[in-house]
Amino acid sequence: MDICDKANDYADHLNRNALANQLAKGRSPVGDSFTECVDCGEPIPIKRRQAMPGCVRCVSCEARHEKVRM
Ligand SMILES: [Zn+2]
Repeated sequence: MDICDKANDYADHLNRNALANQLAKGRSPVGDSFTECVDCGEPIPIKRRQAMPGCVRCVSCEARHEKVRM
């Protein structure tokens, strides 16, 4: 198993946890997007919410979040 496989496994693990958390809170993981970014509080454009159902961050915060996660 190389480092990329490990990173993928870890990302899978995090995704599953995030999904479980959303379900535990009674939120649908799909089609229930936040209207504001959870990180910076800026409104998330409707087009992004339609393209990414369930997203909770604006584009710039999501990009930063994914880099940190990797
Ligand atoms: Zn943001």
